[in-house]
Amino acid sequence: MRRTLLLFSFVVASTAGAPFASAAPGAVRCGKLLDVRSGRMLTDQLIVFDANGTITAVGSAASTSAPHGAVPIDLSSATCLPGLIDAHTHLTGDPTNNGYQGLGISIPREAIIGAKNARLTVRAGFTTVRNVGASGYTDVALRDGIDAGDIEGTVKYGADLIKVCASGGVLSKGDQPGTPQYTLEELQAIAEEAHKLGRKVAAHAHGTQSIKDAIHAGIDSIEHSSLIDDEGIALARQHGTYLVFDIYNDDFILQEGAKAGMLPESIEKEKKIGRLQRENFRHAFQSGAKIAFGTDSGVYPHGDNAKQFAKMVEWGMKPIDAIQAATIRAADLLGWSAKAGALEADHYADIIAVSGDPLSDVRVLESVKFVMKDGAVVRNDFGAK
Ligand SMILES: [Zn+2]
Repeated sequence: MRRTLLLFSFVVASTAGAPFASAAPGAVRCGKLLDVRSGRMLTDQLIVFDANGTITAVGSAASTSAPHGAVPIDLSSATCLPGLIDAHTHLTGDPTNNGYQGLGISIPREAIIGAKNARLTVRAGFTTVRNVGASGYTDVALRDGIDAGDIEGTVKYGADLIKVCASGGVLSKGDQPGTPQYTLEELQAIAEEAHKLGRKVAAHAHGTQSIKDAIHAGIDSIEHSSLIDDEGIALARQHGTYLVFDIYNDDFILQEGAKAGMLPESIEKEKKIGRLQRENFRHAFQSGAKIAFGTDSGVYPHGDNAKQFAKMVEWGMKPIDAIQAATIRAADLLGWSAKAGALEADHYADIIAVSGDPLSDVRVLESVKFVMKDGAVVRNDFGAK
């Protein structure tokens, strides 16, 4: 969603949904555990965490002990992975609020929508999100509400983020995705000021020139990246800029957009740009550019975030590449490599589990059955807790 030119957004790590009772050390026993760094599938592992919800040890169940008196949660029939990260969400937006329908949604109402969507998102296995745009600071309200305990959950925050809309958009009215909205000098000033404050900067950029300008300006991630060309890909590699391609939501926009109130103008733009974006995603990935998982949730229903994995595989990635984009790579983009995106000591005890093998069928991630956030169980469909 692209409503205003400059948006202040926040990393809301963890969303809602975890029970309050969490502050006890414990352990999870995993029949299989995906080491997302190496891509190796380990068997019969124990993940141990402390009362702060921080992992203290991960190792074979035979040689690793659970904290004294703690009975490990039994996931011996399941495959464990780190909690997933979506680097491009709009928690306070819903697909039913598009086009002119959005005018009927008040800002306080948006905040309530955000609370609902935070819960859907965490239950789908996305324990960390980067929220990139909301009206009236509703995302700040959501973050603060979770922090204050008003909304069920345990939560921690990352760096605040500045987003700039460097080019036109698809769902925004009266502009064109390829048209620059800022000069290089303006983008440089924004990036410099944000970095001085220790903030990362994300640029919404579909357009070929805007993408290059944003990379030259030192911006940290390019959102959408739709019309990136070879020169843009080379620049992204050279600057280490992350590219975030939201390549699932095209399907939703084309199939459901009109019903969801999207403007005919937006649907026409999507038809032109959707396929190009997917082709450019494949090309950028095969060329070695850094890609982080981001879906633009809110354009499509929250909780369906994992549907993008299959698209990423369809367009050139192996399942492990797509999983890395949503774990270690997204954590790197957020500046959170030391604490999120992997099941390792000193990381948050954000653990998900699925049936089956995501390395052979990435779609199993669409049916996450166990979610732990900071050592607290959010959902467990594998059996009695
Ligand atoms: Zn967006």
